Amino acid sequence: MTSKALPTLPILVENAATATFDCVYPTCGGKCCKQGRPPVEPGEIARIEANLAKFLPHLREKARKVVTERGFMTRREKHGRRMMAVSEGWCVFENQGCVLHKVGAKEGDRFKYKPWACATFPLDRLEKTDGWYVRQWKVNGEGWDLFCLNPKESKKPAVSTMQGEIEFAARLDSGEEAWRGGDVPKPAKKRKTAKKRATRK
Ligand code: SF4
Repeated sequence: MTSKALPTLPILVENAATATFDCVYPTCGGKCCKQGRPPVEPGEIARIEANLAKFLPHLREKARKVVTERGFMTRREKHGRRMMAVSEGWCVFENQGCVLHKVGAKEGDRFKYKPWACATFPLDRLEKTDGWYVRQWKVNGEGWDLFCLNPKESKKPAVSTMQGEIEFAARLDSGEEAWRGGDVPKPAKKRKTAKKRATRK
């Protein structure tokens, strides 16, 4: 993919010109939710807790037991955020797809209950600069050997296949998702498009 072919993006994606990705769910079985343990923001925890009765009937039996007896969060932390619980090796909210996603989609917004770390996957925030990057093997020290993060797995440009995730990331950057609290990105003062950034390289 050449920088000339890049679409104009509403967020800065550092590796927009080179990243490839194609989500093949459900063929993959939802492996990104295996031992998922996503970090969750305080506002996200509160929203899930307030709506728990909607999710419980859809959980796997053992996961439901874990959630009702011990809760859906653990004391473990990642990037200063608490991590979700796991049951039988899978995130407690995984049951042939993400229950938080499915319930949200039925209500008209697939991301309204999902932690932003899941909703943007495989986009992630750059640590030191104002922007994002697509997680890929060997990019920014990526340690997860998940097959779909292998850039050789697909020839499709990630910026084309991830439009929904990119739009959601723009909502985060704009401050529209500030209810999530904690580590949610603050509105940027000045934002360059990924196209401009890629052209400059
Ligand atoms: S919250 Fe949903 S998307 Fe995130 S790891 Fe759990 S099942 Fe997967």
